[in-house]
Amino acid sequence: MKKSPVLFEKKELCCGCTACQAACPQNAIHMVKDEEGFNYPTIDRVCCVSCLKCEKVCPIKIQEQKRCKIAIITLYDDNNIGNKLQNFAVQEILLNRGYEVRTIVGELEGQDNKNYILQIKRYIARIIAILGCGKGKYKRYALDEKRCNRFKRFSEKYLLLGEKINVFNLPNTLSQTYDCFVVGSDQVWHNWTASEQELYYFFLQFTDKKKRICIAPSFGFDAVPSEERDIYIKGLEGFEYLSCREESGVALIRDLTGKSAELLIDPTMYIPVKTWHDMEKKPSYLQTNEKYMLVYLLGNGAQKARNESKIIAQKNKLRIIDIFEFEQENFYLTNPEEFLYLVENAEIICTDSFHGCAFSILFHKNFLCFNREGTNAENMENRLSTLLGKFCLKNRMFDEWIKAGKPELTAAVYYEAEKILKEEKVKFGRYLDEVFNNEDRR
Ligand code: SF4
Ligand code: SF4
Repeated sequence: MKKSPVLFEKKELCCGCTACQAACPQNAIHMVKDEEGFNYPTIDRVCCVSCLKCEKVCPIKIQEQKRCKIAIITLYDDNNIGNKLQNFAVQEILLNRGYEVRTIVGELEGQDNKNYILQIKRYIARIIAILGCGKGKYKRYALDEKRCNRFKRFSEKYLLLGEKINVFNLPNTLSQTYDCFVVGSDQVWHNWTASEQELYYFFLQFTDKKKRICIAPSFGFDAVPSEERDIYIKGLEGFEYLSCREESGVALIRDLTGKSAELLIDPTMYIPVKTWHDMEKKPSYLQTNEKYMLVYLLGNGAQKARNESKIIAQKNKLRIIDIFEFEQENFYLTNPEEFLYLVENAEIICTDSFHGCAFSILFHKNFLCFNREGTNAENMENRLSTLLGKFCLKNRMFDEWIKAGKPELTAAVYYEAEKILKEEKVKFGRYLDEVFNNEDRR
């Protein structure tokens, strides 16, 4: 079967030069105005004979073929707001350096697929989501399914997606398809499935050492289990340049390999803040000029933090928008675009999330950072204290706020934080220059 022409994946990539239209021997290409009045080519598939002459003359395609092709390797799960936004930020960083970029859709579900009960539950959830009925835990499964679909649409809109692969059964062709692989950010070196194969993937050991790059990855823990020490050492030693998002991770790398790693800010903080403002979308459940508190708590239950947030909201006469309030279906379905809007426009943000704090800092918001409750709680603390410590905002940690006698929450002062952010961006840029200007990758 002949390959159909694909002129561009996102219309923003087309400059509307009409070269493709002029080259088409079948007159199968028509320039059509979009809602903003810009002319884009559309292909009449009935007339098209798949000669691909249009692709060959397209200046954007020609440019693409000359560019270094980079794959982003990160956690890919379509249900975590911070994960989606950091993925987009890494993509922006690489696109702005002129590379062709794809995010690998690496599924960590190889082991789950053998779990038939889980598969049946998912199947039922899908049916309930379609029918819009269900109670108790099945209602929750269905809600998760809906949320996942909203996140999928976000990924399709904002991420340039590459191959869908199973991390536990990597295709042999993966290494040769790209010139480089970038792992990060997020907790990619956590080993969620406690499997050697997962670490093999996230340490990029399926490809040559000179193709391995890491950008602000995170471990999400302070100590490597003794039985995995050698695996981590081997994985880390495969990188010429090392970086990490938390202080404890930098110390861990030094301890394991003797190498020094660059402590970097999260990529979401490196790209221009305007990029995030352009992405914001007002959720339909929000009324005009409504004053609200955004509650974004990822810890299991997080009851203590919820109770405190409630007291602060009552005192300030604010409506509570709690994204993980499952009874409020619309809140729970909030997608990353809406999350950005909610942070930007909230009076106060109560969060135990790394990205909840990062975006509060970026948008100069009034926020309070709670200790994470439930599993993985201690591991989270280092990431949050590194972040708030770096920006001189430790007084925004819940414990510090209690120690200070619960003062009234007024907007934090961001003069110092902005100065530090500027310096951190220079440091981040220097790291990127060093890594990408490496002789082998030019
Ligand atoms: S593939 Fe050939 S026939 Fe089809 S649109 Fe392109 S130039 Fe025209
Ligand atoms: S040649 Fe490429 S850039 Fe020019 S109009 Fe066609 S698709 Fe767009």
